[in-house]
Amino acid sequence: MGTWEGACHCGTVRFRVAGEIAETITCDCSLCAMRGARMAQVAETALTILAGEEHLALYTWNTGVAQHRFCKLCGVYTFHRKRAAPDRFGVNVACLEGFDPDSVPFREADGGGMSVTGPMRPEWPGPHGP
Ligand SMILES: [Zn+2]
Repeated sequence: MGTWEGACHCGTVRFRVAGEIAETITCDCSLCAMRGARMAQVAETALTILAGEEHLALYTWNTGVAQHRFCKLCGVYTFHRKRAAPDRFGVNVACLEGFDPDSVPFREADGGGMSVTGPMRPEWPGPHGP
């Protein structure tokens, strides 16, 4: 178990992640491809917003299940509630102070295959449709 303190670029949004970060992932959905962040997946209960919650913007698209958060002031993506696992958050590991992304394995996740507007991938077991 570890505890990581995170912040956006301007420091307005601050949060804490409690728990093991066993790997980092990127996702190939259209949003993540543009965003380009390496993420850690953590349980909902492991994420605590310490400051700046009122400055967190919310962006949703596609099914609207995933909730993407970013700082309204500096624009940095901090974390998002995941679509495939809504009780989990993806966290931008670049926001975590002292965390070395190269200290854990790295994986590319198949988020593009989850799109309900694009072609489905049969190997994706999760829910499709609105
Ligand atoms: Zn900020």
